[in-house]
Amino acid sequence: MTVKAKNIALVAHDQTKAELVEWVAVNEAALQPHKLWATGTTGRIITERCPSLEITLLKSGPLGGDQQLGAMIAEGKLDVLLFFMDPMTSLPHDVDVKALTRLSTLYNVIFACNRSSADFVISSPHFKGDYQRTQRDISDYVQRPV
Ligand code: PGA
Repeated sequence: MTVKAKNIALVAHDQTKAELVEWVAVNEAALQPHKLWATGTTGRIITERCPSLEITLLKSGPLGGDQQLGAMIAEGKLDVLLFFMDPMTSLPHDVDVKALTRLSTLYNVIFACNRSSADFVISSPHFKGDYQRTQRDISDYVQRPV
């Protein structure tokens, strides 16, 4: 079966980076056919561990990388967000993370925030196949009177 390539973003907070890098290494072959993006530091560490993966590096998350991913979501350029979050640390860019979760929800992007969820995503037949995400009808909002 030909894999239907998807745009996938990889992000991890500092305390969860090792876990994401390990997960990517385990799933390197399955990720290979897809188009990969990552926030700066996460992407650099993954590339060091898995040099065969071609990853487009964005800015570091706290420097705007999360916002760049948000823009990709709003423009329909991202299918899957794998963001291993640290639930135990308060971060200066918490607002960016919140914005990213909100936009993922709004645009029905596949979003895994921990390893088990990522395992389910990558083992789904939709991961390789042709999957059409439905879009919420926002026409009422777009055309609302001001
Ligand atoms: P980083 O950003 O990959 O540059 O560390 C991740 C984040 O959003 O905290």
